[in-house]
Amino acid sequence: MTMPATLLEVRGVHQIYGTGERRFTAVQDINLTLKEGEFVALVGPSGCGKSTLLRIITGLNKPSSGVVLYRDNVVDGVNPHATIVFQTFALFPWLTVQQNVEIALKVRGVAQKERAEKAVALLDKVGLDGFENAYPRELSGGMRQKVGFARAMAVEPELLCLDEPFSALDVLSAEALRGELLELWEAGDIPTKAILLVTHNIEEAISLADRVVVMAKEPGRIIADLTVDLPHPRQRKDADFIHKVDMVYAALAGQTQPEALEMGSEPGGAGRTRTLPDVQVTNLAGLLEALANKPDDRADIYQLVDELKIDSNHLFPLAEAAELLGFASIAKGDMTLTALGQTFADASILTRKEIFAARIRRLPMFRWLLNLLERADAHRLGWDVIQSALEFDFPPVEAEKQVEVAVHWGRYAELLTYDDDTALISLEEEAPVHA
Ligand code: ADP
Repeated sequence: MTMPATLLEVRGVHQIYGTGERRFTAVQDINLTLKEGEFVALVGPSGCGKSTLLRIITGLNKPSSGVVLYRDNVVDGVNPHATIVFQTFALFPWLTVQQNVEIALKVRGVAQKERAEKAVALLDKVGLDGFENAYPRELSGGMRQKVGFARAMAVEPELLCLDEPFSALDVLSAEALRGELLELWEAGDIPTKAILLVTHNIEEAISLADRVVVMAKEPGRIIADLTVDLPHPRQRKDADFIHKVDMVYAALAGQTQPEALEMGSEPGGAGRTRTLPDVQVTNLAGLLEALANKPDDRADIYQLVDELKIDSNHLFPLAEAAELLGFASIAKGDMTLTALGQTFADASILTRKEIFAARIRRLPMFRWLLNLLERADAHRLGWDVIQSALEFDFPPVEAEKQVEVAVHWGRYAELLTYDDDTALISLEEEAPVHA
């Protein structure tokens, strides 16, 4: 078997912006290799330098130091073998869909008579057959992004860089487009030899990529590089999938406390069962946002009590929840956001729910509860049944509180539903991945 050729090599890259007082390091000591056949995802909180790195890789920016090699040659100026698809791919509104693709072919020097035929074939590949003569304004966001893909494909890039290509789309269009991209890539229908996808959506990264490179910020740097050796199509509910997602979250969260103390044991088990701190998710989000607005994402806990106008009785459970979920670390009275906390603070509501779900699923209390529901008839149990089970571990008042918090957190994360009339707690049934 021949080894796949190395396509891209980033060696010791640093990027510094500004001078004097305002000088700061956007990315530090980046080392990254991409081989032919690899689909790599780059994840991390906003501001960790993902876009900067993409610009350096494609030659749009020259790094302050370090070097980028493409097929063993130093990249100096724009790399003609790499193309970027951006989050909102700008189409020319006065040109039809087909003309928008032909323009890219023209720039590449394709003769006029071949352009139409090639453009039609590309549009067909991305599933836009029949829309050649439509104008961008007539298309949905997802279809416009498909034109963007077709235009990027027209350049026939060996390295296709995608900068948050699905984040501006609604959930269903994004999911459909991910499926189509994967199909094109897996079928080998496109000349692309490697894909580098920048995203802050960890589930998206795990569902598509062979490797996930995790970055943290201040300074922007690589903190983990994980292999995702799961066959396609990947199911988000599979234990292996969830495990990989958890690994990325754990890398972002860092180890904030010793594992045994952090997690406790499951209800009914031998060890101490750790209670869920009694906090509302919106208040937790508020705290993380407040921290994200501080220099270095750090603050004195007592100062926060003053600023957020909450009393310390409320702040402590919030701080505890933030630490338990890996959103912040606490040392010497200071609270600091982890890369995961930064990601959460920056994320859309939907992504926040996903992050929250991934984090609470690993808590023994939730593992126990989800397991119980999984085994129950119609995946449903009465509140009182769960409370009674918890009364082996806690006094009745605390057991009731724990069910209340679990239901609130579980509903927010869309893992559970609760019907107040029947007092039944159910597992939330998940929509299929590639709809
Ligand atoms: P990401 O894509 O992960 O959100 P970016 O690469 O856009 O991160 O930015 C990394 C850091 O560099 C951010 O703090 C951003 O404000 C800063 N930055 C990006 N581009 C410039 C620039 N041209 N001049 C100064 N600072 C910049």
